[in-house]
Amino acid sequence: MSLLTINDLRVAYGQIEALKGVSLTVAAGEVVAILGANGAGKTTLMRAISGLLPKTGGTIGFEGTDITRTNADRIVRLGIAQSPEGRRVFGTLTVAENLKLGGFTRPAGEIPASVEAIYAMFPRLAERRAQFAGTLSGGEQQMLAIGRALVAKPKLLLLDEPSLGLAPIIIQSIFRSLRSIADTGVTILIVEQNARAALKLADRGYVLEVGRIIHQDNASNLLASGQMQEAYLGRA
Ligand code: ATP
Repeated sequence: MSLLTINDLRVAYGQIEALKGVSLTVAAGEVVAILGANGAGKTTLMRAISGLLPKTGGTIGFEGTDITRTNADRIVRLGIAQSPEGRRVFGTLTVAENLKLGGFTRPAGEIPASVEAIYAMFPRLAERRAQFAGTLSGGEQQMLAIGRALVAKPKLLLLDEPSLGLAPIIIQSIFRSLRSIADTGVTILIVEQNARAALKLADRGYVLEVGRIIHQDNASNLLASGQMQEAYLGRA
């Protein structure tokens, strides 16, 4: 059954239509990648799903509930959490405080165990739990942003460009962690400019180009496609 169903979604910034009728589905347990160049509308799509942007048309359904006009706080409570582009950790709060905030919708008593689970997944964060998030490296901040979203215990994890600005070896490590997160049964929708890394993780992918889905296929077909190699994958 489809967990997330987006139908003909439109989002505009004033006169600029950033999403021009996007339709896609994500099934429970799937990892789905949205690929696209700068300005394709990837961040707009993520923010629209999270309830952070008004829609000018179309619908978003989550577990059969229409969430098109549901507010962001309620959307987290329903089970969608986002790790935003640029990480957006709270720099003047500690690692531990950032993680705790991720659980704002959950009973306080349940949060410590979830935070410990994040420390087990990212030992670097455990070592730095008392450090201000603003003093972490880019890779550590990315781990923290993902960890913070996971403390919400989402059914659907939205990841906006987790590889952005990171060195290849750090990207590999982040994607290994994402693999283990997916293996625990969390459904993932990831947007990436690093198409190769995203497709190695994903089951399926969609290609977004100036606000429209122009192509979709399973991840292995996209990785092998000549057209994709030329436009998004470069040389291996
Ligand atoms: P990037 O990877 O560069 O963030 P993206 O695929 O995430 O690209 P979006 O950030 O969603 O793309 O932007 C889609 C389009 O909407 C672009 O043309 C962008 O200039 C425009 N846009 C994004 N945010 C705003 C805004 N706040 N006001 C006006 N236009 C915007």
